[in-house]
Amino acid sequence: MSKRILILTTIISLVFGLAFSGIIFAADDSYWQDHKEVLDELQSDGKPPTVIPVELIPQEDEATTALRERLNEIIDEYAPRIIEMSDWLYHNPESGYYEYNSSKMLGGELEKQGFEVTYGVEGLDEGYNSVIEERFDAAGLPTAVIAKYKGKTEHPVICFVFEADALRAPTREKGAFHGCQHNMQGPTAVGAAVSFAKLLEEKNIPGSVWAVLTPAEEIPPPDKSAMAKAGVFDGVDIAFFSHGFGPTSKRNEAGLGNCCYLIDAALYDFHGKTAHGSRAWKGADSLDAARLFLTAIDMLREHSEPEFRMMSAITKTGNAPNVVDDYVQIDHWNRNTDPAGQAALQHKAEQIDQIARGVAMAAFNEVDIRHYAYYYNGIEYGWLNALMWEYVHEYGDPEAISEELGKPSGWAECGYPSVNFPGIHVKPAIAGTPEVAGHSDENADLTISEKGHRALVQTAKIEGAMALRLVLDPKLLATVKEEQARWQEYGLEKGLITEDMIRK
Ligand SMILES: [Zn+2]
Repeated sequence: MSKRILILTTIISLVFGLAFSGIIFAADDSYWQDHKEVLDELQSDGKPPTVIPVELIPQEDEATTALRERLNEIIDEYAPRIIEMSDWLYHNPESGYYEYNSSKMLGGELEKQGFEVTYGVEGLDEGYNSVIEERFDAAGLPTAVIAKYKGKTEHPVICFVFEADALRAPTREKGAFHGCQHNMQGPTAVGAAVSFAKLLEEKNIPGSVWAVLTPAEEIPPPDKSAMAKAGVFDGVDIAFFSHGFGPTSKRNEAGLGNCCYLIDAALYDFHGKTAHGSRAWKGADSLDAARLFLTAIDMLREHSEPEFRMMSAITKTGNAPNVVDDYVQIDHWNRNTDPAGQAALQHKAEQIDQIARGVAMAAFNEVDIRHYAYYYNGIEYGWLNALMWEYVHEYGDPEAISEELGKPSGWAECGYPSVNFPGIHVKPAIAGTPEVAGHSDENADLTISEKGHRALVQTAKIEGAMALRLVLDPKLLATVKEEQARWQEYGLEKGLITEDMIRK
């Protein structure tokens, strides 16, 4: 173990240990240490093990099994309401930043169940806040829900994270629809959170339960990152996340990666000077700056690595040919399909910024540059995947379980949260789920089928069982935190994450 890791894990274990009912455990008091030889063998090149064998997690004892069975009863009693909420969301879809009724319904349910609920987020980054205000009238994220149940002790904090935004339809007539199954997320998270809090209360178990709605996943900027940066998740020990269901349940390899591609998005506001079209020499045309900008980006393509995708849209411009444009806005995205390309992506963004400044100068304009969205690598946790696998096998349909490993992607799509707060994306296993396209009507319709209803309850049970184990076993929780420190160190060393992604 390197000195740096030792220091890091000592601090983490100490801080966490103090927080946890006053029990202090030493740095080496973890299952990681118990299985040092096995894990060292799985480790290569300083890279922490990418698969944790399920057998390394100690067997559930009788007392825990009894508690888990009680939790199942509570979830089963609550199941009709969980299903009702998901069906209601399916029939009342709202797109990102406008999910007001969905937020009110889910927040209201949590309030009714004894959670302390607040809406909106304070302390958001100003640049980010200005972009969501300008585009969606959503400064302060009014549809965000932060619900807390404070139990016997403050820690550990188990946080169920969910989205509620529907997809924007390809045609205006069609309206929003739940083709990404986000209607299942809130009901699952609320179902697990409410039931788990009830169990803690009934059985006098320490710990707190949070449920957090993060708005508008389908539309950048990524609000989970912004909320994490504003401190919403500070204090969270483990986060759970779910995202509907598909034909197979797979666990992922541990490591650093992302669900989709690395993205950096920025707004370029070109400001010129208006003038009568017939006296255009008196003006400074922002459309000229914009045209030069797009041409220069085309030139840069030739000198960019093939894994780059550069995409732009003119989002604001004038519409009068006889008036020189004094304002044009371009929304530009750089995408890198290479997961190890985070540094290269940042370099590409700097090149585009330089182009923007250059063309602004050439067209006698000023330019404001706002980088407003980043999708970076996150951490996928091996120990949490192993624990999930134990309970997917317990609750899932065997035919729907695949032992093939998925790629690491972290519990959230945008990187930052999963680097800072350990968590897992839980996937249920429902046999006979048809293979349909993502973001489709068929995918939405699956959620209100009998299989969709089973998936809701199964996911809540898997999450509840995992939460129970982590709350009852501080050593397991310490092991997950040790893994977090190891992946952070490895990620920094290999350039998969950058120092500024680690929340101090
Ligand atoms: Zn989605």
